[in-house]
Amino acid sequence: MDLRTVMLMLAVGSFVFGLLLLILKFVGSNRQRVPFWIAAKFLQAAGSLLLYYRVGIFDSMTVLAHTALLLGCAYEAWAVRVLTGRPVDRRVHLLTSAGVIVVCSSIVFWASPYRSGAVFLLQSLFFFLPAIFLFHRRDHKFFLELLLGVCYFAAGTVLFIAAVVCWGFPEFALSESSSRLFGMIPLISFCMFLISGYIMLMLAKERSDREVAEMKRSLEETEVQFQRVVETAVEGILVFDRDFRVTFANQKMASVLGYTTDEMLGRPYVSFVPESHLDVHDHQASLRRRGKDSVYECLLVGKDGEKRWFLISAKAIVDDNGRFEGSFAMLTDITERKDMELALEESNRRLRELSNRDSLTGIANRRCFDETLEREYSRLKRSRSKLSVVLFDLDHFKAYNDRYGHVMGDDVLRRIGGALKESLRESVDLAARYGGEEFACILPDTDIHSAVKVAERIKQRIADLEIEHEDSPVSSYITASFGVTTVQYSPELSLDEIVDMADKLMYKAKAAGRNRIESAEWRGYDMAVSE
Ligand code: GH3
Ligand code: MG
Ligand code: MG
Repeated sequence: MDLRTVMLMLAVGSFVFGLLLLILKFVGSNRQRVPFWIAAKFLQAAGSLLLYYRVGIFDSMTVLAHTALLLGCAYEAWAVRVLTGRPVDRRVHLLTSAGVIVVCSSIVFWASPYRSGAVFLLQSLFFFLPAIFLFHRRDHKFFLELLLGVCYFAAGTVLFIAAVVCWGFPEFALSESSSRLFGMIPLISFCMFLISGYIMLMLAKERSDREVAEMKRSLEETEVQFQRVVETAVEGILVFDRDFRVTFANQKMASVLGYTTDEMLGRPYVSFVPESHLDVHDHQASLRRRGKDSVYECLLVGKDGEKRWFLISAKAIVDDNGRFEGSFAMLTDITERKDMELALEESNRRLRELSNRDSLTGIANRRCFDETLEREYSRLKRSRSKLSVVLFDLDHFKAYNDRYGHVMGDDVLRRIGGALKESLRESVDLAARYGGEEFACILPDTDIHSAVKVAERIKQRIADLEIEHEDSPVSSYITASFGVTTVQYSPELSLDEIVDMADKLMYKAKAAGRNRIESAEWRGYDMAVSE
């Protein structure tokens, strides 16, 4: 076979091989990713094609051809290194490429045998290199690697001998008898192309199979780890599909609710939610459908009907297009904490109630009266309505105590408190013991006429009780004197002044003979109009 034909075969072969590698790089699931390899093949194809046109001639195109061919060989050496599982230092690669270009450019100035000698020497170096990489691989699991190493070594040796002949015996190199030796070189290159192409493909396949196996193994390991974490988690874990049916429940979650994990599967989340918390469930479900995450507290019912509180951290699962696929939730049992919170809340509420209640009569105390009056008066600021206050004091109560004793006196105060409470609108008006034997009422949205009517009603109720008071100069039963006042909001009028007005009116009633009602509506400072 003549030299030109071999060069053409090399060019076409390398090009087709490069094309095949390019296709393998982008197509299929098991993609080929060996850097340098494709570039090596296209460089070799370009170099061989240029040499095909330049056989027997030496010019700048020949230099270019040698440069491309040698660069191709260097790239192939790096590809073999990558295939043997080692990286290629970027600087070494760049320096080598630069060296090849410099040497190839300088051969223009050299005599013919020395020129060929330099090219052969470089080429032998790039055949020895992959041989070294392949022999140095620690685990020779693959017989083909050794075979490839031997081939590279043999080809490198032939080229080295050719280089030595060119440099050591230039006359012989130029003679007819050397042409047989040099004529073998393109043939050796072609054989190397075939052998290395096949074996490297095998190595690349082995490498990518190894990578896939490695990925599978690490994926399995991650899965096992994940499973272990999920199973041993102190938190309950639930996964739901897009209809909020359980697709996964860990052991902890199932046992807290009294189910087995299998029993949990397929159950709708709503079946664990008590009726009182359905609105929480609906709100959370709508958040999840919109792809939103949240942390919330909710009561869930177990298999035995027992309710437990959970702190739930829920995440929406969405696909690549943002479509809702389901959700994931971590649940912490906070029943004990919640019970304590609720007990604390209840005891706080009772404490608050106690601190607002008069211990003797059971109705509101002075503190509650003051707070309510402040609240109602500030509400008046916005409503522009009217507020009435009734203050009354039992008549000659000292005398009652003196005659009947304090225990009987206390009992009277209790009965008066009860009568007062019954005379008022529940949850609207406030009945309070203002202190001693004095009582007070706050009547929101009540004008003076209605307030007086309320006072009359209380007075009548006290009379109806018919509590005997023999030492009272007013009546033979317990009586009281009333002061009734009605106000509208005014920045000039303070809370103390409101109470003071009612108090003054009450003393006016006392002074007027007791067992009566005195009333007045506040209409500015100088206009306390008496009814
Ligand atoms: P007036 O008609 O002017 O109000 O005469 P009064 O005797 O009711 O008024 P005074 O202020 O002189 O006496 C109030 C009495 O109320 C004195 C006290 O013995 C009695 N009192 C005050 N608080 C209590 C209480 O908690 N229990 C009992 N049993 N009596 C009380
Ligand atoms: Mg009194
Ligand atoms: Mg008094």
